[in-house]
Parts: sequence; C-alpha cells; structure tokens
Amino acid sequence: MHSGFFSERVVAAPGGNVRYRQDSLFGFTCRISPEREKRVPVRGFIPESSGVSCPFCPENIMGATPSFADGKKLLIGESVTFPNLYPFSGSHIVTVITNSHNPVGLSVRQIIDALTGQYVALTGCGGYPSINWNNLPSSGASMVHPHMQGISDQSPSYVNRIFIGKSREFMSRHGCCYWDKLRESEADSERYISGDEILWCASPVPIGEKEIRGYLPFSSLPDFGSYISDISSGLKKIIDYYHSCGHFAFNATIRFDKEDNDGSFRSFVSVIARINPNEMSVSDSAFMERLHFEPVCMTLPEKIPSMFKGSDSGN
Ligand SMILES: [Zn+2]
Repeated sequence: MHSGFFSERVVAAPGGNVRYRQDSLFGFTCRISPEREKRVPVRGFIPESSGVSCPFCPENIMGATPSFADGKKLLIGESVTFPNLYPFSGSHIVTVITNSHNPVGLSVRQIIDALTGQYVALTGCGGYPSINWNNLPSSGASMVHPHMQGISDQSPSYVNRIFIGKSREFMSRHGCCYWDKLRESEADSERYISGDEILWCASPVPIGEKEIRGYLPFSSLPDFGSYISDISSGLKKIIDYYHSCGHFAFNATIRFDKEDNDGSFRSFVSVIARINPNEMSVSDSAFMERLHFEPVCMTLPEKIPSMFKGSDSGN
C-alpha cells in the first residue's frame, strides 16, 4: 500500500484504528478514520428539479449578472460566463453550467461547455489560474444553480504555491519531473481507477472525503483546451460515483502553473465529496479542517477504485 510518495502511521484507538498519512514532498497531512462512517448519518436533502428562480436562471441571468469589458457574456451551449459580481481575485470568472436551477444530474456536454467557457475567459488573464466548483450550499456554494468559478492571480494560492514550488525544487534536485514518477507509482497502485494519458486515482493523502485526482499531462492553461472533453467525462463519472454513495455536494478544482513555466509542475483535477445540505446545518468542515489544516476522512483511498467501478454504468 505504501510508496515513497507518502508515509502512514497507524494508531490503535478505542473504537478503531486511526491512520495518519503525510505526503512526502508537499508535507500535507490527513487522518483517516473508517469507524466514523458508522456514525448516525445526517439527514440530507436529495436535490430535485424545482421551479425556484434565482439570478442565474435563464429569465434573470442576462440582466442580473455583470458582463465583460466589451459589454458581452460568453455563451457556449447552455453555459453563460461572466465576471464575478463580488470578486476575490484579480480575475474572477463565473460560469453558470445549466439552464435548470437545480438539475438532478449533469451531462458530459454541459460540463464540456462550462469548462470551455472558463478556458476561453481565463485565457489571456495571465498569472496562476485555477478552475473551481462548489456544488450545493453545503460545499460553500452561495447559489444552488450549478456554476464554476475561475480565478487567476499574480501569485498562486497558498496550496498551489506549495504544489508548484516543491515541484520546482524536486526538478532542480533530481533532474526529473516529480509528477512523472508519481504517475508511474499511482498507475500501479491500489488507488488506480482508470485512464492512461489522464490518470484517475484516489488520492493517497486525501484533502477531503473520497478525494479523486485526475493527473493531467500538461502544466498550464493553454494546453487545457484539447483535454476538456476527456476531463469532463472523468468528472461526470466521479459525480455519478458520489451519487451512488449518497453524496450530492462536492468541491472540485483544476490547478495550473503560469503559462511561462519549466514543466516541473503538472496540472491535476481534484474532487472531494462534501456533506449534503441538511436541516441542522451540520458541517463536515470543523476545527481539524479549518484551524489545523489536517482533514479527517472516513473512506480508505484504497477502497475507492472497487466502489467506483461498481458505480460505473459504462456511460
Ligand atoms: Zn437558478
């Protein structure tokens, strides 16, 4: 189960083992406690299509959202892309994915069109971009209506600075790309799910519950365009897998290096399952996640591939 890419310490605690894992290069840590899955589940709501209207609904969106400097929004398929009204980034771009306010499911086509909107709008922004997605309010989304958010700044976010900076250090120390070595190891591990050029695997040191990563064969945004279709198919399968486990809320990100880079960092998709919206506002982000930066997960990453394959209808 172990590789040089992470370490694990297992501590027997009353009620079950706790696994402490640490990523060797980046230093990120987590705890995995499968026993916590046995807790009484929080009663969540199952999303259904509804007639509720919001600023992202088709009848409101053109008037209720900002436009780019040319006075236009970007329309691709059903998706509508525009600058965030309340930005927290130098370039902060919203893409509303669907016409439907609260769809039961998303199609690969809808995800392709939305990611294409993000790709086009972020191109030329410069800096260190990422494409992000909070799905449902319990994951942090302020709007139920499905939407993605691209940000790009002159310096990367805290976590992306660690990923990119340590990748550069690895390259200069060892003369090779860390991600090539990681891919080789993960493709041959119990965490491998599918793919070759894009390698989909459960993360050995998950940042959140049931984290799945898609390791991409490029570093920066310009190369993203030709992989949008395959990435979207992979995302759709992850969403379907989460649904099969009862998770409707999730967070996703795709991290990119700046355009002028040395190839030491490789982009990757990261998706984590989140607690469903619930009447008591119970959160899955507590003192360990917010104040100790050490997420507590329930599902052992090595169990995910067999669960995932069981949920794959082949569509
Ligand atoms: Zn809406």
